[in-house]
Amino acid sequence: MEREIETIREKPHWSYSAFNTFLACPMRYYFRYIEHAEVERTSISIPFGRAFHAVLSERAMKGADYTIEDAKEEFDFFFRGETEVSENLTYKPDEDYWFWEQRGCDMLDVALAEWPDDYTVKSVAEAFSIDVPGLSKPLVGEFDLVTVDGGDETICDWKTASMKWPNGKADRDLQATVFCYAYRQLHGRMPMFRFDVFTKTKNPAHHQFYTLRTNDDFDRFVYLAGKIEKAVNSGIFLPVESCMNCAECAYGSRCKAAHRRAA
Ligand code: SF4
Repeated sequence: MEREIETIREKPHWSYSAFNTFLACPMRYYFRYIEHAEVERTSISIPFGRAFHAVLSERAMKGADYTIEDAKEEFDFFFRGETEVSENLTYKPDEDYWFWEQRGCDMLDVALAEWPDDYTVKSVAEAFSIDVPGLSKPLVGEFDLVTVDGGDETICDWKTASMKWPNGKADRDLQATVFCYAYRQLHGRMPMFRFDVFTKTKNPAHHQFYTLRTNDDFDRFVYLAGKIEKAVNSGIFLPVESCMNCAECAYGSRCKAAHRRAA
């Protein structure tokens, strides 16, 4: 069955990922969102993250009756499917499918053992599409999980990460701003935001990071989104080369040859 967000994404739109891609490297934004260029490599972390995320979504929907055996069986199913449709899948040396299969199961042991059930689930995979002043297209996205705990509404977003997040990262994260902005516009209330980060380390761990946003954060986001749309419409897509940016870029060869194609 098609998810609601997939139907919403069929029409022209903005998303947090598009903003974030542009801010990291406008040229990568161009290859991905304008040129729709072929992906030269897909890191195993992409299908792995999607499969892990899909299992957490099942756990949130099905509740405490969902067992660790169910979770591992579904992870195997989702992970196999995601890797099969990934273009030019790449692994690091000494890693393969089975390495990540086992790592996913180890992470699920932690995730389900530490699953907090002391709240009411308001929604799982709630899609949104909202207007942002100054943007020509709607902003769309999906809340992984929304909970209500003693009157407090919290948007929860699941992440897999190679290491524990540093202090302060959640407070600076644009996704929390974008999603809180969308939530307030949809529901008229200011939510809390929580990242549930699961590390892909040999001994997986689960860390929660709560963060809040203010009206000033929202004003700055509207300003930033307008600047990004203007920059995109200007057609100037500069490369932002750095070890961190380019190491896992799916368009490395295309980027290196860009000046020759333009000549
Ligand atoms: S290789 Fe680096 S500079 Fe080029 S598109 Fe990718 S991230 Fe940007």
